[in-house]
Amino acid sequence: MNLLVNVVLTGLMVFFLGEKVMGGVLEDVMEGKASVIDLTYPLNEKNPYWPVKPYMPFKYEVIANMEKDKVFSGRYSTPEHLGTHIDAPNHFALNQPSVDQIPFEQLVGPAVVIDVTEKTEHDADYTVSPADISAWEKTNGRIPDGAIVLLNTGWGKRWHNFDQYKNTGSTCFMHFPGFSKETATFLVEKRSIKGIGIDTLSGDCGTSSDFQVHHVINGAGKFILENVANLDKLPPKGATLLLSPIKIEGGSGGQCRIWAILPK
Ligand SMILES: [Zn+2]
Repeated sequence: MNLLVNVVLTGLMVFFLGEKVMGGVLEDVMEGKASVIDLTYPLNEKNPYWPVKPYMPFKYEVIANMEKDKVFSGRYSTPEHLGTHIDAPNHFALNQPSVDQIPFEQLVGPAVVIDVTEKTEHDADYTVSPADISAWEKTNGRIPDGAIVLLNTGWGKRWHNFDQYKNTGSTCFMHFPGFSKETATFLVEKRSIKGIGIDTLSGDCGTSSDFQVHHVINGAGKFILENVANLDKLPPKGATLLLSPIKIEGGSGGQCRIWAILPK
C-alpha cells in the first residue's frame, strides 16, 4: 500500500514539476512578470497581398447587423498567404505537413531577431548572408536549438502603403529584402531551427522567381512566417514565440496569430 502511495505521490510531483517547467513562460505572463507583444497585423481590405493572379485582397462583409437582425455577424474571404501568415512545409514541398498537421511543439520557440535595417536602407534587394548570421552569433551566442529566426528588415514601416511595401517601381519585379538560399541552407543544415520569419511579403527577396529559400526551408519540413509585425520592438534574443495558425485541413498555410513573450 505504501508503495502505491509513493508511486502516486511521485507521479503527482513529476506532473506538477513538469507543469511548472512547461508553464514557466506563461506563468510569468499571468503573474505580470513578462510582457506580450503581438506580432500580427489586423486583417482588413487594405492589407498588401501577393500581387499576382489568382491571389486577391482580403474581403469582409457584414451578413447580419444588430439593427435589422438583432445579431452582428460577418463573412470573409482571403488567400491563405495574406496578412501575417505561416507557410506550411507543404507550400513548396511534396509529402510535407499541411498547416493543420504542424504539431504544437513546433509552434513555440525562442526568437532570434536579426536586424538588417541599415543594409536594406540602401539596398532594397538585400539578401541576408551567412556572414550576417555569424555577426549575430558573435554578439549573442550560437542560435539556440528550436529557434525561430526572424529578419527585421525595416519593411514594417511600409506596411500601410502597398506600393512602397511591394516596391515594384518601374520594373515588373518587386524589390524587398529576404533570406539568401545560402543562409536558409545554413540554418537547416548547421543549426536546429523550427522555422524562419520576415517582415515582408516573402522569405525570398522580391526579385526572386525561383523561390529557393522556400524550397530549402519547406523541403526540410520547416515553416516560414511572412508579414510579421512589430519586429522592431523585439530584442535580438530573449523573447519566446507562440504561434497559432488557422487550422485549414490540408492547407498550404494560413493566417497566424503570433505572440512574443518577453521577460520584464
Ligand atoms: Zn506565404
